[in-house]
Amino acid sequence: LRMSDPIVENQITVCVRKRPLNTKEIKKNEIDVITIPTRERLILHEPKSKVDLTKYLENLQFRFDYVFDESTTNEMVYKFTAQPLIKTIFEGGMATCFAYGQTGSGKTHTMGGEFKGKQQNFNSGIYGLVARDVFQLLSTPNYRKMNLMVSSSFFEIYGKLVFDLLAKKKRLRVLEDGNQTVQIVGLSEVAVKNVDDVLDIIQRGTNERTSGQTSANLLSSRSHAVFQILLRKVTGRGNKLIGKFSLIDLAGNERGADTFKSNRQTRIEGADINRSLLALKECIRALGRKGVHCPFRGSKLTQILRDSFIGDKSKTCMIALISPGVASWEHSLNTLRYADRVKEL
Ligand code: ADP
Ligand code: MG
Repeated sequence: LRMSDPIVENQITVCVRKRPLNTKEIKKNEIDVITIPTRERLILHEPKSKVDLTKYLENLQFRFDYVFDESTTNEMVYKFTAQPLIKTIFEGGMATCFAYGQTGSGKTHTMGGEFKGKQQNFNSGIYGLVARDVFQLLSTPNYRKMNLMVSSSFFEIYGKLVFDLLAKKKRLRVLEDGNQTVQIVGLSEVAVKNVDDVLDIIQRGTNERTSGQTSANLLSSRSHAVFQILLRKVTGRGNKLIGKFSLIDLAGNERGADTFKSNRQTRIEGADINRSLLALKECIRALGRKGVHCPFRGSKLTQILRDSFIGDKSKTCMIALISPGVASWEHSLNTLRYADRVKEL
């Protein structure tokens, strides 16, 4: 794929990343139903084995800001998604990057970093890459003299509950004051001096997030993980927030579709996840248009991210992840439709 320069003017960037077929899919002889003819187009092929051919008779074409094929590295995805948003937080804006997709499609691989067995290389994920470039920019003469400080938070949203991943999953309350400022009471905000400090925090939060989970009980796929890098200016009267970069590994979007065959708890979770993903879509759409209502109270996720959905300076990118196998066809279609709607005016 030939890549031109990243788009930096867009307030909303929507991309799709296709991962390679994995060993399990190859063993099952699953065919790859995704073709990427150009760097902005994607074709989802109709599965030939489907019984009901009346519904989808044609290959479905989609267009996005960028489409990344299975040979694309994290660094490359980063270059066209989160990296162009870094300067936003130095200019007093809010930047947000979402990873959206079904469980197993590559959200955590993209955001947290590549897996080597059970280990994860946090250097190679978007969290770590953003940290690297924030400190890089901070070390340039222009910013070095500005007296800025960097800190990080890492928390998880499960239904209406919020847990601090940097404080042993302590449950936190969310408050909205008279000025409609949303605050997570007592959320850890850890000062960081360099990239290694940040990588340390990513490691701590990730361990906390996945501790005690078996593959049959993957709580992490049913919660949203929010990792934030905050930039503050040190002043005599406390530290003033300049900008904030929120990086979000969303809950798997398959829950809604699967609810009919699941138990009560899973159905409730599914409804929660669905509601938050729908509210998220509306809020992102509102960001791109004047005078459009942003239903940020529609879910904990959007309520917490409220300040990222307002203001001309706020920028968002969505990375929709898809599994290429034919068995994931319907989930991929859901993901592509969602991503399509986020941008459509
Ligand atoms: P999710 O967080 O969406 O549930 P993961 O990021 O955990 O999915 O990815 C599922 C599996 O697929 C992991 O073993 C991961 O290493 C692998 N994987 C995901 N994306 C890629 C990719 N682009 N290249 C190679 N392997 C990938
Ligand atoms: Mg994951």
